[in-house]
Amino acid sequence: MMIQDIAPVRFDNHYDPSARPAPESFAVHFRGRALLCAYDAPQLRFPTVAELPAGDYIYLFRLDGQAFFLRRDEGALAAEGCAYEDINLFRSAQPQISAFAAVTAYHLASWYAEARYCGCCGTKNVHDAAERMMRCPSCGHMTFPKIMPSVIVAVTEGDRLLLTKYANRPGASRFALVAGFTEIGETAEQTVAREVMEEVGLRVKNIRYYKSQPWGISAGGLLLGFWCEVDGADEIHLDHVELAEGAWVTRDELKRVYQDRGVALTNEMIVEFIKGNNP
Ligand SMILES: [Zn+2]
Repeated sequence: MMIQDIAPVRFDNHYDPSARPAPESFAVHFRGRALLCAYDAPQLRFPTVAELPAGDYIYLFRLDGQAFFLRRDEGALAAEGCAYEDINLFRSAQPQISAFAAVTAYHLASWYAEARYCGCCGTKNVHDAAERMMRCPSCGHMTFPKIMPSVIVAVTEGDRLLLTKYANRPGASRFALVAGFTEIGETAEQTVAREVMEEVGLRVKNIRYYKSQPWGISAGGLLLGFWCEVDGADEIHLDHVELAEGAWVTRDELKRVYQDRGVALTNEMIVEFIKGNNP
């Protein structure tokens, strides 16, 4: 189950300029990576607008009609039973719709924080009246929410899957797949081939798209999952700056050792490989 798999709950991300915070609307407030919430692991609850002192809000989205608003304060706020918790809680928080709301709100909050000023002339931006866009009142430059494509790559060779572990990264204890952001001027398939070569020194073939996943925790990520096979030599040459480990792991060994039941596309692809469902 990936973080965005919340059906039958309906996610409505359409910007609604007429939306106003009601007492029962959920209020989302971040201080850096910390989210104001009531968190009794794994249960996550957002404070309502009524539970916070009066202040400024920006409409975010609705989940089955329940509206979420971003609170625009620099300082810390207090609400009954709430504290500031690291946004990484979204990986295991329940119910999953609240975890999805938290990470999606984080994506938008990060973008609003960096879109305060015009990137062309430095004037303070204002929110557009009709759509989710920041507009410069001086030069008219428009800034839209940032979405950055990146790839997750499952490289296979028969019944073996290439797993990696990141060096110097939060969550680095977890198994990962080769991954990286798409760079200017390349296709997602070219990103796949380049990242695999850079990280583990392997050539790949039969690159096939699998699924995508919104991943707001990486400041606007949109993950594109790909399967591919090693082309030629299978000897790993590790990029030690990015990776701490890289290894071929057999399906049988993964069946025995793989326990990470996360909400990320990476986890789903590893589980699909273990089940023999990789294309
Ligand atoms: Zn400007």
